[in-house]
Amino acid sequence: MKPQQSLLISLFTAITMLISCVVTNTPQTQQRDIKGCTYGGKTVDPDKLCVQLNFKDNVKAEELIDKILEQVGLQRNFVVMECPGVDNCMAVTIERIPYIIYDNEFLKRFDTAHNFSNGKIMITDWVAASILAHEVGHHLNMHTLGMSGSRPKLELEADEFSGFVLQKMGASLAQAQKAMNSPIVSDKSSYSHPARTDRLAAIQKGWKKAGGKEKEEETNVKQIKAEIAQGKTYYYQDNYTKAFPLLYKHRHSPYFDSNTQVNLGYMYEKGHSVNKDYYEAVKWYRKAAQQDNVYGQAYLGDMYENGKGVEMDLYEAINWYQKAARQGNEFAQKALTRLRESW
Ligand SMILES: [Zn+2]
Repeated sequence: MKPQQSLLISLFTAITMLISCVVTNTPQTQQRDIKGCTYGGKTVDPDKLCVQLNFKDNVKAEELIDKILEQVGLQRNFVVMECPGVDNCMAVTIERIPYIIYDNEFLKRFDTAHNFSNGKIMITDWVAASILAHEVGHHLNMHTLGMSGSRPKLELEADEFSGFVLQKMGASLAQAQKAMNSPIVSDKSSYSHPARTDRLAAIQKGWKKAGGKEKEEETNVKQIKAEIAQGKTYYYQDNYTKAFPLLYKHRHSPYFDSNTQVNLGYMYEKGHSVNKDYYEAVKWYRKAAQQDNVYGQAYLGDMYENGKGVEMDLYEAINWYQKAARQGNEFAQKALTRLRESW
């Protein structure tokens, strides 16, 4: 086996326990007090923390983290460093100084498009942003100080923060959850980390809290529009049995236009697939007429002329007929002629 392969396998094994908070007090190693949360579920190894000055600062990562903090109006008060070889991303405090330590290679494994070590930060690189935001969430929630509470709960808090911030940065829900949906992340829960579904839910919770509108809502709108359109098609095919339930269902929808209001009113007036109800008919004609719908105006005039659903009122009838006639409605024009002649 090539060394590279065995390295990959050991990395993979380490990551299967993905995402937990780890406390490591290591007074025996370098006399350092290290407390931290790793994204990769491994124990924080102080020897691998780049604390021996072999780390390099990464301006781009700092900029990305500043962008994350900007969303909640805070300034960076922790040290950000790239630490090649740790194969992790973590929020730790080392002797009371908060650090965010990351390994570009680790971030890259989630998303091959990731590339903030050269060139500009790509905010479209939501994977890196969400992982870093998760670690920032640990610091801001003070998880790296006391580490009280159950670890899964802390992870969910950090996930919620990540979802919140990513929404503010313009990520869709899918983008905010992309890292968590990576095959690298385990489906199952453990003593240290919640199941993937719970973590996805936490990200979603934060994302919605930030004002994100769910995809399902968009899907709903599409479906409502489709059902109204279908109802209208049935209506014009005189298939009232099928048209009525669809149109009735969406009668209060903002996508229920004035023509459809007239159609619904007409079914009430004629008793098509519903008990005849002139009051309901007038109600829907009037709604449409008030939006300058020519059919609504003509039919409302007719209801006034004949005293259907309203008290007979020829002045009102003429008033609505005139409005419709001005829009070229023949039915209203004829009605006006007839009324004038019989006046
Ligand atoms: Zn964490």
